[in-house]
Amino acid sequence: MTTPPIISRLPSVGTTIFTVMSRLAVEYNALNTGQGFPDFEPPLELRERVSFHLAAGHNQYAPMSGIPELREAIAHKVARLYGRKVSSEHEVTVTSGGTEALTASIQALVHPGDEVIVFDPAYDSYCPIIELVGGRAIRIPLLRPEFSIDWDRLSEAITQRTRLLIINFPHNPTGAILSREDLDRLADLLRSTKVFVISDEVYEHMVFDGHAHQSINAHHELSARSVVVSSFGKTYHATGWKVGYTVAPAALTTEVRKVHQFLTFSTASVLQYAIADFMLAHPEWEEQLAAFYQTKRDRLQGLLRGSRFQVLPARSTYFQLLDYSAISDAPDTELSIHLIKVHGVTTIPVSPFCEDPPSTERLIRLCFAKQDATLSGAAERLLKL
Ligand code: PMP
Ligand code: GLN
Repeated sequence: MTTPPIISRLPSVGTTIFTVMSRLAVEYNALNTGQGFPDFEPPLELRERVSFHLAAGHNQYAPMSGIPELREAIAHKVARLYGRKVSSEHEVTVTSGGTEALTASIQALVHPGDEVIVFDPAYDSYCPIIELVGGRAIRIPLLRPEFSIDWDRLSEAITQRTRLLIINFPHNPTGAILSREDLDRLADLLRSTKVFVISDEVYEHMVFDGHAHQSINAHHELSARSVVVSSFGKTYHATGWKVGYTVAPAALTTEVRKVHQFLTFSTASVLQYAIADFMLAHPEWEEQLAAFYQTKRDRLQGLLRGSRFQVLPARSTYFQLLDYSAISDAPDTELSIHLIKVHGVTTIPVSPFCEDPPSTERLIRLCFAKQDATLSGAAERLLKL
């Protein structure tokens, strides 16, 4: 018997750039300042709560929408930080990471033939999911040099066919953020439309230089048509746990849960219990995160001073963009591979996040969620270029 011919549902999709680069990093024993994950541990107390609940017997299916304790802790956080009162029962859903939250939300909202607007550079999971449900991604580049929203193009792109807009601020990979005025402008633009919003806010607690994160959760009008996505992976230095959540009005949450229940059914119970305990014991945790990562950003930027890279402003997230046009004309993926193989430092090229990368653009992304020694080591290698 031979395998029947396979007609790929994702013909133009390969392995993610994060996996490709991390694999090369291992193969060439390079410092991994590429893929976005901390090379330090989640807080000890949080890890101890995992051990506790593992031994205490929380090892069977969690409720489909998440354990009530965690949903309540999330609802409290949203009320405390963004002033929005949400029902933990009907408006909060615990998911297996931000990725699953995004997938469930896109699948719940997008019908075949619908258009979905995303901004380039776009996090790599959005467009393949849109394609899988038969939607069409309309990709609008963020405007250089600030990577801000191109309001004219956005306004032109919204048609009767537009079902959904996906936004991601704090933005991976550029660190761009939105102001309250931006959200108001978005509300003006969407008011007369039937467009939903997915707001990917997984870096919500990493906004620097005294700016506040403008969550859709804090915007009364926009939150009525939005699914807000977050991830404990970023907040608790635990990207491998894959626990995230959505906050959305009850009617939207019902639809998201219809998909979530068949994507994974529910999310690891011990992790949910541990995170709920930690959130209750340490409501201050989120508030120190921005200062923690700002120190790392400043450290990296200081280390790179005097290099031939242009260090772009990094206003949020744990990513730093570097412009290497003074060093090389090579395309970004080629340069990133060269940096791993020859210089032992891993970066992520930006063009895989874009449909139509500007041909003159020479940008790579560094992750600074790393120990000081890793940052110094990476900078030392980059200074040689
Ligand atoms: N959205 C963005 C912008 C991300 O950078 C990531 C992961 N780093 C995710 C979603 C996915 O989050 P998770 O790892 O919890 O699935
Ligand atoms: N979000 C992480 C990043 O931007 C990677 C997540 C993944 O590898 N899927 O680096």
